[in-house]
Amino acid sequence: MRIKLITTKQCTYSKKPNKQNLGGGREVGRLSVFVRPGNSDKGVLLDCGINFDDQGNPQLPLYVSPKNIKAAVLTHAHLDHTGGLPLYLPLYFVTLSFPVLSTSITKAILRPLMNDFLHISGYYLPFEYEEVAKMLRNIKTVNYGDIVEVDNFTLEFVNAGHIPGSMSVILHANSKSMLFTGDINLIETELTIPARYHNSSNVDYLVMETTYAITDHPPRESEEKRFIEAVREVIDNNGTVLIPAFSVSRSQEILIVLTKYGVDAPIFYDGMVREINRIFLAHSRFLKNPSMLRRALRISHEIKGWQDRKAVLKERPAVIVASSGMLRGGPSIYYLKKIYDDPRNAIFLVSFQAPNTPGRMILEKGVFEQGGPRIKARVEWFDFSSHAGKTQLIKVIDCLKSSLEKIILVHGESEAQETFAREVYGKFGIETIISSNNAKIEL
Ligand SMILES: [Zn+2]
Ligand SMILES: [Zn+2]
Repeated sequence: MRIKLITTKQCTYSKKPNKQNLGGGREVGRLSVFVRPGNSDKGVLLDCGINFDDQGNPQLPLYVSPKNIKAAVLTHAHLDHTGGLPLYLPLYFVTLSFPVLSTSITKAILRPLMNDFLHISGYYLPFEYEEVAKMLRNIKTVNYGDIVEVDNFTLEFVNAGHIPGSMSVILHANSKSMLFTGDINLIETELTIPARYHNSSNVDYLVMETTYAITDHPPRESEEKRFIEAVREVIDNNGTVLIPAFSVSRSQEILIVLTKYGVDAPIFYDGMVREINRIFLAHSRFLKNPSMLRRALRISHEIKGWQDRKAVLKERPAVIVASSGMLRGGPSIYYLKKIYDDPRNAIFLVSFQAPNTPGRMILEKGVFEQGGPRIKARVEWFDFSSHAGKTQLIKVIDCLKSSLEKIILVHGESEAQETFAREVYGKFGIETIISSNNAKIEL
């Protein structure tokens, strides 16, 4: 049996002329993989993500012919796995020609995420709100443990532990099987139950994310304690702690951590996190412990508008959790500009900071814009990553090694992947391929 795996071609789409350039490859995010059994042209599309370039403009995955797609799977709601799917819906199409499979919470989160994406990047995108609405209508929800037949494939969905509702997919075709991890996490967080893979699944091919292929994260509990200690130091000094955080998952986790340790200051939250909180509670069976989130939201205060925003800044001490996590937009920017100048305050970053974002600039240069004023507030970064670290990735391979024939690495930085691939081959003797964009891999 042969499964052809095609990392979809990638390029930058833009409404501006002369901005179309092919390329990318070996990158974190913008994941989109097309899998076909044997010689068939028809197959399953796994994720369809976007990335942002250094200027913050969206980079979309290239298109495979929709007539060859029998179904698409969205492993989770993050835009680097979903943001490109409306590409398959030209304006005159009433609906997608294939079903899209995701969990119900992923579908619900996608609505605000995609609308926000259009709001910020709409000028550069070849689709509008209408296409996004059509795409969302075409999603058929699945649950962990479900088995779905699509053309020549049988698809099986399992928890990926990355964010609520995230899943990995096991594809079976012609008596072979492939595990597509999507983004995974193998440690318990306040919101998610870790991913668990079983060697009984007899996986022949593993397509694995490698966001952290050469680094490990600190133990979660010690990082939580370090974070809480830092928050308390600022509070004791009567300062304001601003915590810019991703609205999906990271904000809720931080609110739960603040509640769990009983931080002695009023806690506020602002931005898209408000809507995501409501979605999380409406789909609470995807949360590890929904009562913890309910408790955190009861104790903390929702910022409802500009009146509240101004009032919060007069509170001292205070803790504000606000979107967006990299300070690229949303109310976190507003708060930052109000508090950066006072050394009693703090900006605690708890999410990944992409190059050229204000968040990264704050960490590396102590300013939030080129030539801008120096930040006098205390700045620190805490590792609350929802991705598996290197040791966990190795653990996945170790668990599946008895049946594994090939490993394909995706969603990672090139150099780190090379090091990881060498180590995996040395340790397990299993052929390990680093997939480039537009690569066709015969298995
Ligand atoms: Zn991702
Ligand atoms: Zn993700």
